[in-house]
Amino acid sequence: MRTVISSPSPSPSPSVIALLALLLCVLTGCQHHDDAPNDSTPDPTDSAPGDSTDSDDTDSDDTDSDDTSSGTPADPFDLAALVDQDTLLADITALQGFGTRYTGTPGGEASRAWIMDELQAAGLPTEEDPFEGGVNVIARLDGTTDPEVIWVFSAHYDSTSELRDTIAPGADDNASGVAAVLSAARIMSQYRFKASIWFVAMGAEEQGSLGSAHLAGLMADQGLDVRGVVAPDMIAYWPLGDADAFDILGDTESESLVNDMAGIADEMGVANKVWIEHRYCMGDDHTSFQDAGFPAISPMDCVEAHNVRGTEEDTPHYHSTSDTVDTLYMPFTARVAQVIVASLATWAEPD
Ligand SMILES: [Zn+2]
Repeated sequence: MRTVISSPSPSPSPSVIALLALLLCVLTGCQHHDDAPNDSTPDPTDSAPGDSTDSDDTDSDDTDSDDTSSGTPADPFDLAALVDQDTLLADITALQGFGTRYTGTPGGEASRAWIMDELQAAGLPTEEDPFEGGVNVIARLDGTTDPEVIWVFSAHYDSTSELRDTIAPGADDNASGVAAVLSAARIMSQYRFKASIWFVAMGAEEQGSLGSAHLAGLMADQGLDVRGVVAPDMIAYWPLGDADAFDILGDTESESLVNDMAGIADEMGVANKVWIEHRYCMGDDHTSFQDAGFPAISPMDCVEAHNVRGTEEDTPHYHSTSDTVDTLYMPFTARVAQVIVASLATWAEPD
């Protein structure tokens, strides 16, 4: 179904025009767009937090003087090791600091502007993708040999609570997912991959996954070759600490991606549970992509927390003003983010 190419609507909105330009850029592989706020070429002076491998690069075969990445393809597990727990914590804390990120509030707007700045600072062309009811932010890392092949790493940045207009810290839900996206963008932007990777901060998830429905629909309408979507939603509440396990939710269409990620997690020693035939978390962002015909999965902290009340992993903080950073367990959060980066790098294939 992804091979069907439809023509653009007769009278696209400005936002659609912007996205179409962005999509055209992907399809034509233009990595150095003049209008981009930051050139996608890695800048040796702009290293990602915790990124220490470039200075170790003594490979004399690298004839591309413009390229700070190694002349030999990066190892996905080496990239994963660059995910830094303190950076994740700092980003979650910053997002919580907006007070509320409920869609339409000043905090929601300010948090989006901050995310946009962070993605641009990673050196990636970054654009807003407005839709009826909210705004997504999309940063694009174009592939080298197969730029038309797209992998999406997204997390919703909006939050909610019983006092949603004023206090909705959303540390676990879903500042944790956004922090993982930001870390991945900063790290992976320093390297090259055969396929393209889109880093997306999704809007208006709490209003019915409006942002993901919009983007998934647009990508389907354009016949884009989306090979997979990873959309973590809550990856930082681990009441069992190091004894916890993360859940990987998919469906029959995305079963191979679920199994890929589980295999990588196993290899990295990160306990996990896979869910293919299930009824959990339907309506979350990843299911918007599934509905649009794309393989999509969601790594998350505990299915039981939302769906099986009374288990030892039950979270009392879900959609509450108490979903704060002090309730999180960051060592395991970092491991899950590392698994995601290793998975994305494996799929997009270092070049
Ligand atoms: Zn959520």
